[in-house]
This record gives sequence, C-alpha cells and structure tokens, in this order.
Amino acid sequence: MGPTQSSPSLRILLVEDHKHDRIAFHRAFQRSQVSFEITECERAEEALESLRSDASLFDLIVIDHGLPGISGLDLCKELLDEGIPLPMVLLTGRGSEELAVEALKAGVNDYIIKDSGMGYLDLLPAVLPEVVRKHGDRMAREGAESALRESEERFRNIVEGSEAGYCFIDRDGRIKDANEAWLRMHGYSSLNEVIGKHFALTQVDEHMDQAKKDFENLLAGNSIPSGESTRRYKDGSLGYHTFSANPVLQAGRIVGVESFLIDITERRRAEEKLRKMNEELTNFAHVVSHDLKTPIVHIKGFSSLLLERYKEDLDEQGQTCVERIQTSAHRMEVLVSDLLALSGVGRVVETLKDVPSHEILATVTSGLQDRLNENRIKLVVADSLPTICCDRERVCQAFENLIVNAIKFMGDNKNPTIEIGFKERAKRAEFHQFYVKDNGIGIAPEDHRKIFERFRRLKEIEDKEGTGLGLAIVERIVNNHGGRVWVESEKGKGATFHFTLPKAS
Ligand code: ADP
Repeated sequence: MGPTQSSPSLRILLVEDHKHDRIAFHRAFQRSQVSFEITECERAEEALESLRSDASLFDLIVIDHGLPGISGLDLCKELLDEGIPLPMVLLTGRGSEELAVEALKAGVNDYIIKDSGMGYLDLLPAVLPEVVRKHGDRMAREGAESALRESEERFRNIVEGSEAGYCFIDRDGRIKDANEAWLRMHGYSSLNEVIGKHFALTQVDEHMDQAKKDFENLLAGNSIPSGESTRRYKDGSLGYHTFSANPVLQAGRIVGVESFLIDITERRRAEEKLRKMNEELTNFAHVVSHDLKTPIVHIKGFSSLLLERYKEDLDEQGQTCVERIQTSAHRMEVLVSDLLALSGVGRVVETLKDVPSHEILATVTSGLQDRLNENRIKLVVADSLPTICCDRERVCQAFENLIVNAIKFMGDNKNPTIEIGFKERAKRAEFHQFYVKDNGIGIAPEDHRKIFERFRRLKEIEDKEGTGLGLAIVERIVNNHGGRVWVESEKGKGATFHFTLPKAS
C-alpha cells in the first residue's frame, strides 16, 4: 500500500508471472508520490476471472506479454472482445516493437518496453495515471459523440417517417436536405434532383419577395409566423401547405433555415369543390323553384277558371278531377317554397343581431292564431324569454315550423296544448335552450333521428300539407347558429323539441 494521500488511489491490476518483477513494480510506486493499490495475478486466467466478476474494482490493467498459457496480448484482445471498459498497458521485452504496434492496433492503450536495467519502472508512476486520465477523456468523448449520433439518428428517423415535409436550406438559400415526404409532395423522386438548388425552385412568383424576406429574417435570428403557403411542384402545378420555419443553430451560429410543411392541397381542393357545389346547388334550387312556380300558378289559375266558368260542362267525375289537380298544384307550391327555404337556409346566416325571443314568438304566433283557434289548441308561452343573438327571419321560421308540426300532429287529444319556453343552463354556457312541447301523437324513439332527414315523413296521420322538409329546415337553421336540435318523445305521449341558440352578445 502506498503513502496515504488525499487524491484517490490508482487501483492497478498487475498481471505478471515473475515474482521479482512484481516486487520491483511495487517498489517503483512506493518510491513515488502516487497513491496506489496493486492487485496481483500470476496468470491470465486468474486476471480474467477477477475482471469478469467485478471490473469496477480497478482503474487500470498492466499486463506482461510473456505470460505462461494465454499470452499478454491475447489477454488484452480477450478483454477488449468482452468489452471490459478499462485501460490496458502491455509490458513487452526489448525488440518486440512489432508486437507493440499490433497491441496498439488491437486497442491496447499503451505499451512499455521493459529494459534490463529496470529504468522503465521509474516511468510507471507518471505514465500510468496519464493513461487512465486519457482513457477517461476518450470514453467521455465517445459517449458524447455516440449520444449525439443517436439523437441525430432519432431526429432523422422522426423526420423520415413523418408525413410532414422537412427541408433544410443553407445560408446561401440552397436546398441541402429534404425528407421523403417533402420530395413526394413536390413531385420529386430523389434528393439529387433538388440538392444545391435555390429555394426559389418551389416558390411561386407572387410570393417570391415575401419568401426571400422571410428567409433573411430567419437568418437574422428572428422568428416568422407559421401560416399557409402556395408552392410550385415539379410538374408546374400548384400545391397548398401549412408551414413553419426556424433558423438552425450550430455551435451558436445560424447555419441555415429548416422548414416543415403539411400538404393541404387535397383539403383545399375539396373545400373549393364543396363551396362551388353549394353555390351551384343554391342557384339551381332558386332557378328551379322560381321556374316551377310560374307553371304552378298557371295550373292553379286555369283549374279555378275551369271550375268557375265551365262547371256545367263538367260532370261530377270531371269536377273531382279538376279538384284533384288543384290539390296537387297546391302541394307542389308548398314543396317548392320549402325547397327554396331549405336552399336559402343552407347559406351562412345573415348578420346576427341581439333579438328578444318574445318578439320572435309574438310574430310567429300571431300568424298562426287562426290555425290554433280552429283546432282549439291552447298555447302557453313562458313569461320571461331571453334575448338571443340570431338571424331573426330564420329563427322565426324555425319556431314556426315546430309550432305548425305541433298543430298538425296533435291527434285527437281532448285538451290540446302547446307550450313554449326555455330551460336555464349553466351561467357560463354560450347557448340558451328552448323547447316546443305538445301533447299530440308523439314519436317512437327509433324515429327520433329519422324525422330530421329531408323528405322523411312518418305516415301516422293524413297530412296533405307536409313535404318532409320542415324539420330539416329547422336543423339547418339551428346548426347555422352553432346550436343543435333534438326531440324527446314516446309514441302517444306528445313530443318536446329542444334546440339551442346563442345568448345575446
Ligand atoms: P312534414 O311536417 O312536412 O311532414 P317535417 O320534417 O316537419 O315534415 O316532419 C317530419 C315528420 O316528423 C313528420 O311527417 C311527422 O311524422 C314527424 N313529426 C314532426 N313533428 C312532430 C310532432 N310534433 N309530433 C309528432 N310527429 C312529428
């Protein structure tokens, strides 16, 4: 054991078969200022066993080449193979430089040539701690390098596997890297096609100046807002993307710009197609409805004329025929106006205003008063109704459709009643919840969704007026206000239609 010092001991495993060499080794350290602990082995097998059981007991292995059995170099190779993470120093005899070179090539940290005068021993206390220090540094460096390699590889894998396009542009604006997704979305099949090209390659003329400005900004270390961009693909077609871009730092210096893109071309095209289709549909519905109205008016007018002026010329069967024509023409008229309403409410609601809902109900119920009286229906409207933020005309229509249904589907109740009111919802809720409740024929639960479909009618009772569009219209209006509508009902037990509309702004 060496002199006691504050610095930690150098723990050496010495593999040496000659006793006097081991003693000399010991003495050399005792003469020095180095604190040490030496564990001695005479044979390679012994050293292997002790290292396999716990290599952490040592800082360094010093191995004599000329061991009996397994040679010193073979022991070193074995330890390297097994991944024993300790530095190794091989002691060789004079004239075995070739062996020393082989040892270094194999990964041995250092070699020391034993000279007969034993002068090499005095070098050991200075050389061996240095070997340990260098080995430690190398391990740390390799550890850091491999961590960096791993994190780069992880980044690469994420980028390569990503559906988002990734591209790196150097300070000169040249494309230096791009992932599969980026190449695919721009119509390129390999990186070689774009590498080294200026990023203007994918820019459209009208956005070029902005793109260059953004690039300069990023190189200056500023951030730019992410957004949507239009880009030129290889075949000249245009694509749409959401993108974000950041400066790329290396050793504290901005070396370029990386951007991430998500292709929204298909979505954009679908949205545009949908918008056009909606527009065409609305136009179509308007044209058809208006064009249909004229012949209907003619059919109605001429059939009335026929009944008035030529009644005597028609026998009873003839008169019934004309009456049927009139009924059908009337139905046609209702259908056309419902279709028109449905196509109209399909459009975004007009400007929303705060409207007290009792005003809406006053308008609607006064228009329906005759029908209510005719059917001796009691109408109960809640006292204090809230103000809502809505398109007044459309909401009038929704209430009217629901009340008309409640009248139509009242059945033969002795005390027909319709109640209109609203339910208190949580203060922070953005919507008021209204209801229109009747005590009519009710709706079986399996039909609760179906009745909102267009042209869907449950043929419970004879209803010449109906088109099956009323509730579809209600749903469209409510949805366009951001609300929803649903029904609570059981067959024979009346129906309550609930719907939500935005609170006053
Ligand atoms: P329409 O009233 O023109 O038939 P709607 O879309 O307004 O079309 O209603 C669809 C169907 O839903 C009606 O045909 C009827 O069968 C049922 N329905 C609607 N409202 C009620 C109600 N208050 N009570 C019972 N059934 C109803």
